[in-house]
Amino acid sequence: MTMKDNVAAAKAALSHLDIEEKDVAIKAASRDFFWYSPVLKARLDHVTADFVVRPRSEAEVIEILKTCFAHDCPVTTRGAGTGNYGQAMPLEGGCVMHLRHMDKVKEIHPGRVITEPGVLLKDLDAATKKHSGQELRMFSSTWATATIGGFIAGGSGGVGSCTWGSLRDLGNIIRLRVVTMEAEPRILEFRGDELARVSHAYGTNGIITELEMPLAPAYDWTEMFVATDDFMDAVRFAEDLANQDGILMKLGTVFEAPIAHEYFQRVKPYVQPGTNMIGLMIAPHSMDGFLTFLGRRPEARLIYRSDDNDWERGPGPVFEYGWNHTTLRALKVDPSITYLQVRYGFPNHKALIEKMQAKFSPEILQHLEVLRESGKVMFAGLTLVKFTTEERLDEIIRAHEEAGAMIFNPHRYTLEEGGRQTVDDRQLRFKREADPKGLLNPGKMISWDDPDWSYDRMYAYPKLQPAE
Ligand code: FAD
Repeated sequence: MTMKDNVAAAKAALSHLDIEEKDVAIKAASRDFFWYSPVLKARLDHVTADFVVRPRSEAEVIEILKTCFAHDCPVTTRGAGTGNYGQAMPLEGGCVMHLRHMDKVKEIHPGRVITEPGVLLKDLDAATKKHSGQELRMFSSTWATATIGGFIAGGSGGVGSCTWGSLRDLGNIIRLRVVTMEAEPRILEFRGDELARVSHAYGTNGIITELEMPLAPAYDWTEMFVATDDFMDAVRFAEDLANQDGILMKLGTVFEAPIAHEYFQRVKPYVQPGTNMIGLMIAPHSMDGFLTFLGRRPEARLIYRSDDNDWERGPGPVFEYGWNHTTLRALKVDPSITYLQVRYGFPNHKALIEKMQAKFSPEILQHLEVLRESGKVMFAGLTLVKFTTEERLDEIIRAHEEAGAMIFNPHRYTLEEGGRQTVDDRQLRFKREADPKGLLNPGKMISWDDPDWSYDRMYAYPKLQPAE
């Protein structure tokens, strides 16, 4: 039997489920935001699944995994396909299992929610807010379009991480229910240390069918833009504000000039090319404290607040300028822009940022997100890069690493290369147990395919579909 015969047999056996037949729709469901990276765009543009199936329940997920296991058919799971590294792309073809129908919010309690994975972050927030005035502690800036399952399996943190830390921090995920891909799929429940097996594992070692997530009180956040003339003044403003223990904050984003002027169309009339900007979300009851803080900083000017402004055209949600939306906005204006993901760790974060800015601006422009890690305020950089060649991009990455700034390379499709360049032993060990044939999202875990890989160059999955 060839791979094509196997896949056809799996599809036939699942034909009573909701299967997508149209080629255009199959192609669309096989792509994510990999094209943010010119490196990935050059390698993955042609990747397409053979079929797409949309389960309606955990029982159907089990049936799909069992059937595909029996026929050796690869399965790549899809939430909403907003990941940036080709995480949700079926490198070898086979089946895309799209979880859009599994969107039930099951139970809401004080401080926690139990939900299916396919619900959009915005719909989950709407349900918990309506039920009891609660909301997710943190969300991806793709809140309007991404699923909670995709956020946990593919994301890292986002709006809220300035106060609550990252998804991998203890307490930020309570429980995950996971289905394995075996002859007889098992249902497992993970808490505590076990969560690291499957969170941020790109669906390579189990499918999350239920999540229990912590909640916080919901607010009508006051969203603002603050301007400074000096870049490091903006960095200090954001950090010092995040260190104000009595001011509740959900977002602190720093944009080096001329990002706001060049790439934010609706902000442009209110800033100069030399304006550095800070995007903020502050709880309404913290606004007195915030305005007092602002009054002490003559170098900073409030140019927009969502609850009181005379802008002709409002900018929309301020968080949709931050996190990876900054790259999206820049890309729309200048298609040669791409990005890096940098960790500017405490306590050297400000010195490192200043050094990288002095060395590379304007070839790269600093876009920083306030991040709390182990109680310390620091920054994540989603730096904008004017792309020229892959060699130059690698050179810029090396210069960051040599200076002590850790890079999570967004121009790679494997877990290891996008992470800390090392095997995550917990994920690998669990894959041996939960996916013995290696059929879940193939090509994304190097340590599974090539345990001796040396990380001296970009990994190329040998079974990647050939481009026609
Ligand atoms: P998908 O892209 O569909 O899937 C992501 C990964 O999870 C894939 O590997 C998929 O196979 C796997 N997966 C999905 N569902 C399951 C499941 N139930 N079980 C097992 N595996 C599963 N990320 C952040 O962390 N923070 C941000 O602020 C952020 N901002 C972004 C802004 C923009 C404009 C874009 C394009 C992306 C951004 N991202 C961000 C990346 C991405 O949007 C988020 O990680 C998002 O939450 C992914 O959700 P999704 O439903 O689209 O997942």
